[in-house]
Amino acid sequence: DRRALILGHGVDRLTFPDALEEACTAMRANRPCRYADLNVAKLIQMRKDPQLAAAVASADRVCADGMGIVWGLRLLGRPVPERVTGIDLMQSLLQRCAKENFKPFLLGATPDVLADASAKLTASLPDLTLAGQHHGYFSHAEEAEIVARIRASDADCLIVAMGSPLQELFLERHHAATGVPFAMMVGGSLDVIAG
Ligand code: UDP
Repeated sequence: DRRALILGHGVDRLTFPDALEEACTAMRANRPCRYADLNVAKLIQMRKDPQLAAAVASADRVCADGMGIVWGLRLLGRPVPERVTGIDLMQSLLQRCAKENFKPFLLGATPDVLADASAKLTASLPDLTLAGQHHGYFSHAEEAEIVARIRASDADCLIVAMGSPLQELFLERHHAATGVPFAMMVGGSLDVIAG
């Protein structure tokens, strides 16, 4: 079985290189694939929020984002190979996008943070072209228009940085409608990159 259980929640036995290759394969094949991730804080949040738990469980892959999860599974005798953090995976994914001409769409953070983060990313990866970007502060009524914009951008991957549970729920509801093959969520990573 590929998924190890911690407190009833599944985590995939994935190495970092496997996770990255799978993401790139999904983009090349134009096949939908959604990654979620788990750390101890989210695990606690999921116990109080069944909608969040369901959104994480419905992802194609759940990565062990925190050392607490990696150690917990080790103690339970159901080890996963290693920690796969959203921010590391995003950085490597963007390098591959630059190299293989895949275009990411960035969704989330405040307008200022998003502008700073995308400027830094494109400065450090001159070959990277963004399909588009949108900040993460929008109402329910605006969702359809944002989904349509993502769809029209023809992006190869969608990186959602709106924190939990917003990012999990957004992708569970809308990933299919965006038509973007690979989707992942990265919490506050754009704030980290913006510095
Ligand atoms: N955010 C957003 N829309 C919202 C609320 C938050 O885009 O309605 C962004 C926020 O600006 C920040 C990220 O989501 O960039 C949340 O980061 P946090 O560190 O709270 O998320 P975590 O990594 O803990 O899931």
